[in-house]
Amino acid sequence: MTKIEMKTPLVEMDGDEMTRIIWQLIKDRLICPHVDLKTEYYDLGLANRDATDDGVTVEAAEATKRLGVAVKCATITPNAARVEEYGLKQMWKSPNGTIRAMLDGTVFRAPILVKGIEPVVRSWKAPITIARHAYGDVYKNAEMRIPGAGKVELVYTAADGTEVRELVHEFAGAGVVQGTHNLDDSIESFARSCFNYALDTGQDLWFSTKDTISKKYDHRFKDVFAEVFEADYADRFAEAGIEYFYTLIDDAVARVVKARGGFIWACKNYDGDVMSDMVSSAFGSLAMMTSVLVSPAGIYEYEAAHGTVQRHYYKHLEGKPTSTNSVATIFAWTGALRKRGELDELPALVEFADRLEKATIDTIEAGDMTGDLARITVLDNPRTLSTEEFVDAIAARL
Ligand code: NAP
Ligand code: MG
Repeated sequence: MTKIEMKTPLVEMDGDEMTRIIWQLIKDRLICPHVDLKTEYYDLGLANRDATDDGVTVEAAEATKRLGVAVKCATITPNAARVEEYGLKQMWKSPNGTIRAMLDGTVFRAPILVKGIEPVVRSWKAPITIARHAYGDVYKNAEMRIPGAGKVELVYTAADGTEVRELVHEFAGAGVVQGTHNLDDSIESFARSCFNYALDTGQDLWFSTKDTISKKYDHRFKDVFAEVFEADYADRFAEAGIEYFYTLIDDAVARVVKARGGFIWACKNYDGDVMSDMVSSAFGSLAMMTSVLVSPAGIYEYEAAHGTVQRHYYKHLEGKPTSTNSVATIFAWTGALRKRGELDELPALVEFADRLEKATIDTIEAGDMTGDLARITVLDNPRTLSTEEFVDAIAARL
């Protein structure tokens, strides 16, 4: 059999622990037998990040800007315990944070639906994609504990030295205060990424904030979305037969739990953090969630939404069998291969991505799955496979 040819390489970012093992299995058993895989390889495993003073992460992000499509394995974000475990030179920053800052993107997370794994919310029949703004607000705040009586003000000092003040509160006793910010540029990038993604996937776009209470801050988000939409997207949405609307976050929450699914819900940074955990848990499993970072310049980085599955890796190191779900990592690869195929006009590559996804879903629906799904499925007599057996079952079907 001749293998499917590629034109432009994918940026391949290898990672850590159990997902690093799965990464190799997917390449060896699912992709390389069928595709003449071309990648620019960057080893983001913690040992190599340490050896290169995290330079490899920056190089990988730069390569992504140059080549346009990347696929990333889950990586360890070091804490004190990891510094000790790996003998690190320092507590390196989160690679996802570094890459996100360089690509200026929005993160889109969507559940992978299979028959037999039922959403907790009965009305959900199609995926709900959360689009999370990844800059500012409470994640870049300044906060203070107020020890006692006194006045707190916001002070803006312009470049020419003039000041504008706004009273926050006249404290009679102890309390707390917090300052947050965002940037017009970042909000506009967020809006464009959301509109592009909606067009790309042919889904409606919802956007929600609390602008009735936050009349300047949240209202700015609402206005920027409206301005960008009217200027550049209204016609294209009409042509594609999809809709954009803004609604209050309370209203959005109420509508989401009664909806059928099949739309994108754009959220501010904090709302997206919380709502994506709610949506993914209610759909069934973190191991069945795709995640893609989309930059306003049209650059795509695909990954799994879960971490390196540390507990399973330690079992694997002890020589014990594991049953780790590779679906989200497989879909990171298919997402990247499909996008590469679309950009390079390689229908055979797009079709391969479709077939691999179908083989994965069909395998689970036939009753062959990993332990995390076997525990929650409504199918009778599911077979619990090991990490390797599950990949092999998909390979056989493919
Ligand atoms: P995790 O890898 O998300 O796993 C947490 C638990 O969720 C696992 O112990 C397992 O539960 C279950 N699980 C997650 N993915 C699974 C899968 N594919 N198949 C089966 N079960 C799965 O989080 P963690 O173990 O707490 O974190 C490990 C490392 O991941 C950390 O160092 C963290 O920095 C990193 N991390 C990286 C990313 C990223 O690169 N995108 C994201 C999050 C975390 P059971 O043990 O009950 O089976
Ligand atoms: Mg969260």
